[in-house]
Amino acid sequence: MKFETKAIRIQTERSQHREHGTPIFPTSSFVFDDAEQMRSLFAGEETGNIYSRFTNPSVREFELKIAALEEVTDAFATASGMAAVFAVFMTFLKKGDHVLASRALFGSTFNLLNNRLASWGIEYDFVDPKTPESWNEKVRPNTKMLFIETPSNPGLEIIDLEKAGQFSKKHQLIFCVDNCFATPYLQQPAKFGADIIVHSATKFIDGQGRVMGGAIAGNKDLVNEVRGFCRSTGPSLSPFNAWVLSKSLETLAVRMDRHCENAMALANFLGTHAEVSKVNYPFLESHPAFHIAKKQMSQGGGLVTFEVKGGLQQGRDFLDAMEMLSLSANLGDTRTIATHPASTTHAKVAEEVRLEVGITNSLLRISVGLEHIDDIIYDINNALKKSAQSIN
Ligand SMILES: *Cc1c(COP(=O)(O)O)cnc(C)c1O
Repeated sequence: MKFETKAIRIQTERSQHREHGTPIFPTSSFVFDDAEQMRSLFAGEETGNIYSRFTNPSVREFELKIAALEEVTDAFATASGMAAVFAVFMTFLKKGDHVLASRALFGSTFNLLNNRLASWGIEYDFVDPKTPESWNEKVRPNTKMLFIETPSNPGLEIIDLEKAGQFSKKHQLIFCVDNCFATPYLQQPAKFGADIIVHSATKFIDGQGRVMGGAIAGNKDLVNEVRGFCRSTGPSLSPFNAWVLSKSLETLAVRMDRHCENAMALANFLGTHAEVSKVNYPFLESHPAFHIAKKQMSQGGGLVTFEVKGGLQQGRDFLDAMEMLSLSANLGDTRTIATHPASTTHAKVAEEVRLEVGITNSLLRISVGLEHIDDIIYDINNALKKSAQSIN
């Protein structure tokens, strides 16, 4: 089956009611036929549902779809993207281990590495996403994992997945990719050797700004280790959210096509705008890693960033001058959203570190939605003009 078909046709087994739409199972526990079945399920001699912190049919349907779309053998769903990232670190890293991570990471992932892992005795080093050749120097005998994000949030840095895969193999590292920005529709990291793929399902997978969720995909053995950790620590996804996310996957392909088409058009428009000093979009030829993006992604994604000529003040004035676009912290919604990373999501990251990954003071991030592109461009053009007037 092709991607679109799997996203639609993988479904929980039909019940005695012969429902067409997928059912939802909002239950915290499951009943056993007898004491013997209960014993054998707990002993792991047969598989089946026991308690929704462990497994739930609605959650399982979502997991099986994610695994199929990423073309790996299993997946585990979590209550948020950060729960997925944290579970991956905690499952595979122990005291005395060392992890290499791209410097261009989502703000909370960066904070987790920077401020939390040390208290469990786990060490880390950041590597430059642009130069995989330089990573060898950072490898230590205790290095266990490479963790990267491509395209990165919010700098849209692209990491060569093929090189990262070869590097991980050479040093026998667990290769983890946060695939949130691309989704499996645009990029499948397992094809480049990724062992673990992490998602914030809150973003494009839900795609309508409704629920939180996350997922960890990979081969059965590795995912089983994650499941074991999560079974006793409890970051499980709610059955309701799983049902919403599973339905959302049915439209992922058509939504992503339109997100990408609108984003490409917006990037082209901004590229010619007098008030814009820089535009960043993976499928613009001016992107420093354009050729790598073309090699590993089928389209450029739904995020565009740009810098205004008037710097920080014009950036803030731009946000205040928008009439239709939402000023909101989410991304991957049907609605176009603008944010200013330097003063919000990345405010806790030191300025010199931010600048290294392209998060300048005047950088604006647009999560391009599914409204008509003419209306998106109209609002952005007006806000650019107004913010320029207030500067001059
Ligand atoms: C949002 C995001 C996360 C965290 O996901 P939540 O669902 O908000 O916990 C992780 N990685 C990336 C790239 C993100 O954009």
